[in-house]
Amino acid sequence: MILNRLRLPTVSKLSQLAFARNYSRKDFAFVFDIDGVLIRGKDPIAAATPALELLNEHRVPYILMTNGGGVSEKAKADHIAKIVGVPISPWQIVQSHTPLRTLANDRKHNRVLCIGGVGDAVRHVAKSYGFEDVVLPIDIVKAIPSISPHHMFKQDDFDKYAIDIDVNVPFRAILVFNDPRDMSTDVQIVQDLLNSQDGVLGTKRKRRRLEDPAIPIVFSNSDVYYSNEYSLPRFGQGAFRIITEELYSHINQLRPHEAMSSLLCGKPFKLQYDFAHHVLIDWREMLITNKFEQPKYPLLGTAPTASPFKNIYMVGDNPASDIQGANDHGWESVLLRTGVYADEDLSSLEAQPTAGVFNDVYDAVLEILRVNKVKI
Ligand SMILES: [Mg+2]
Repeated sequence: MILNRLRLPTVSKLSQLAFARNYSRKDFAFVFDIDGVLIRGKDPIAAATPALELLNEHRVPYILMTNGGGVSEKAKADHIAKIVGVPISPWQIVQSHTPLRTLANDRKHNRVLCIGGVGDAVRHVAKSYGFEDVVLPIDIVKAIPSISPHHMFKQDDFDKYAIDIDVNVPFRAILVFNDPRDMSTDVQIVQDLLNSQDGVLGTKRKRRRLEDPAIPIVFSNSDVYYSNEYSLPRFGQGAFRIITEELYSHINQLRPHEAMSSLLCGKPFKLQYDFAHHVLIDWREMLITNKFEQPKYPLLGTAPTASPFKNIYMVGDNPASDIQGANDHGWESVLLRTGVYADEDLSSLEAQPTAGVFNDVYDAVLEILRVNKVKI
């Protein structure tokens, strides 16, 4: 019996094994944060170009994962490629809201309310993900102006961005893609739907299972602050999440240990890392087969059951999101000095980088290739 099992493979099987070995040799991969790692604002970080070129040369899979968003993955890929000077595929981009595309496969999420972003940009993003009935707050205000008496939309906005909708069709989910631009309107309409009867505008549900809103809400990013030219950090989507949860608790009289249930995407949450892991596996497959088509993603929140990667290196500048998330979800973490992190903070960091602190992304890539015995 044992001898039977030890039979040598045939010649053709051996050549298949050699072929497989050639590609499976890369049992590690990189996930790069964007801001503070590859670019700074509109400028490249000089080390980014040689780092990505080195990985392309050695056929090491990598993707880019940012908590930013508001545009399509193609627009983001083109933008980064132009700044860094290295081609980037849309299939290598994970923005905070990219995992939402997995919900579009689920027919029960037909009509969705999409929040955030400039003009009607997120409508186009949601449509590109496969959502068919995509409604923005401006569409609702156009149909029922009194729903948000203090709205900030002008006639020009309605003309440019709003579409006519049947307000009686129930909503199946609320997807927060990006920071609200008219916070007052978004706060009002989101609460109306969370507390509605089965997602129908203008209704109020009978109270039951209070921690669960009437329809699910997904926040694509929980960062409370972000930086711009102003001297102090500004409120981001995470601030909208706090307002939404607090108002929901107040309206539903939740007790202190109770909280509104919601789904959270973006770094450092598990949903995002599981999704990015799928994207990495798919990207590796595309490199091997040379077929660059839209992969079939599993439903949101499904972790890969098998992975070709022994190590995934998350390279970032933000200890609280990049490093924390990597450490929490079994990846290696690499911290860089080119962004928000400063060396004096190292000892006080809650999340310590498992693979070290480096001056820039090129230094990090070079060292990790050496550790993984890639001849340079
Ligand atoms: Mg960053």
